[in-house]
Amino acid sequence: MKIGVLALQGAFIEHIKILEKLGVKSVEIRQRKDFAYNLDGLILPGGESTAIGKLLNDLDLLNPIQSQIVGGLPVFGTCAGMILLAKEIDNQSKTYIATMDATVVRNAYGRQYDSFNVMAYFNNELIEMPFIRAPYIKTVNDNVQVLATVQDRIVAIRQDKQLATSFHPELTNNTYVHEYFLSMLKL
Ligand code: GLN
Repeated sequence: MKIGVLALQGAFIEHIKILEKLGVKSVEIRQRKDFAYNLDGLILPGGESTAIGKLLNDLDLLNPIQSQIVGGLPVFGTCAGMILLAKEIDNQSKTYIATMDATVVRNAYGRQYDSFNVMAYFNNELIEMPFIRAPYIKTVNDNVQVLATVQDRIVAIRQDKQLATSFHPELTNNTYVHEYFLSMLKL
């Protein structure tokens, strides 16, 4: 099994380390030629969605990634990665990969409360969730499953082979969310 990790900007090393811990091979995607057609899954890390989105465009990676996801490549986006996957961004007109039927709100928790850690349930498993200038999910279509809510706001969703979280499971020692993603690859 080989998972591509988008390594243009942001917290990608932490995802690679979690995959290593789980004994899964990863490939850093830094340019078009790294994005091969034999990947089993793709991780879009947190960081700054505007910067990652611009680089995806400039490096000619946006369309290939988008068409492989539409074609069934499993993908997991955390935080900025989730923003890249959303079909709608509430407080911004520009969208990026736009393959998930969800509307997200960027930097949704305000300045005073922009970074925090909570313990909450993801798919019935109690885990630590670090939020860093995080988005939340405002609305989803019926085809989207809600996997976690915090303070009545949706913070993790799944649509077929696409998974997205507002928070950063890769910044904790708990590998549950990554294991959940890897289990999606086998179905
Ligand atoms: N605030 C960032 C954005 O809008 C996301 C933050 C993160 O990925 N930790 O892209």
